[in-house]
Amino acid sequence: MEKDEIIRLLSDEAGEKELFDRADAVRKKYVDDEIHLRGLIEFSNICRNNCLYCGIRRGNDKAARYHMPEEEIIETARRAADMGFKTIVLQSGEDMFYTRERMSRIIAAIKKFDVAVTLSIGEREFDDYKAFREAGADRYLMRIETTDKELYHRLDPGMSWQYRYECLLMLKELGYELGSGIMVGLPGQSIESIAEDLIFLRNLPVDMAGIGPFIPHPDTPLARTSGGNLHLALRTMAVMRLLLPDINIPATTAMESLHPQGRIMALQCGANVVMPNVTDSEYKKLYQLYPGKTDVDKAPMHGFGKIGKLITDIGRTIGTGYGSHKSNLSV
Ligand code: SAM
Repeated sequence: MEKDEIIRLLSDEAGEKELFDRADAVRKKYVDDEIHLRGLIEFSNICRNNCLYCGIRRGNDKAARYHMPEEEIIETARRAADMGFKTIVLQSGEDMFYTRERMSRIIAAIKKFDVAVTLSIGEREFDDYKAFREAGADRYLMRIETTDKELYHRLDPGMSWQYRYECLLMLKELGYELGSGIMVGLPGQSIESIAEDLIFLRNLPVDMAGIGPFIPHPDTPLARTSGGNLHLALRTMAVMRLLLPDINIPATTAMESLHPQGRIMALQCGANVVMPNVTDSEYKKLYQLYPGKTDVDKAPMHGFGKIGKLITDIGRTIGTGYGSHKSNLSV
């Protein structure tokens, strides 16, 4: 698909039903009806970065900070594995408290629970990524956020788009299943730029792609911007499914924050993964990337039951395996 056609599909509000049906059919053909559940542990909201859009940015002094002790992270993972999750996603701000050694210990301990381990802890050095892989990490998620370098540098002060890109290449070289993605609706982002983002993700290519609407957080410099549109985010996700038919695509929490049915809508236009939050609620409520994050007030581990029913209600099944990218089935 050429860029012009991608732009046309992204812009065509009236024709989105047709696009969604097409993406749903492609999803069914290539990755079938299974929905893979990943247990998400948000283990630290401490971050050295200062991204203008993010509620846990370094400069937000209203955010109460935490990092979970090692044993508690492992215990949370054990409970999630006992519940039936076959993948544990460890996500945090860029918190250097979790040194190479500490992180490797956590990964190795969690791997004993017969789960795939996905990391989403941002930019590190090659030797860190290598150590984490050797400790057993299987997958890595790191969104490029936008491929518009000028926009990136404006929104992520002090960071380097080029280094983030190089991190993605390092992760690939080390044999991780690679996840990346973007936010849709960033201030100053054009449809053409989103089309370029999609082409970038196709060319990497990624094994997983997370597309989420940008939601302004009140305690950030972008508080008064208008934020992303759910339908444009869904169209972006649907086009992603057409571009890379067999990858894993999550129905993102940010979609549900904009609409109570957001995740279900996403599952019906290309998505095949859901990441219920299994973090203890005392921490979960502090991991506020954006307002309205769903499930924040629910007791821990409730995600599986509720989402399990929603999945069967739309005629889909819950994956029982590790849910790796099909072309890369060894965990
Ligand atoms: N620190 C890691 C990293 O940089 O990849 C992982 C944590 S980071 C907070 C996870 C993702 O949250 C980011 O990649 C970004 O796309 C998303 N995010 C942050 N602020 C957001 C907002 N206001 N609205 C929607 N998504 C947001």
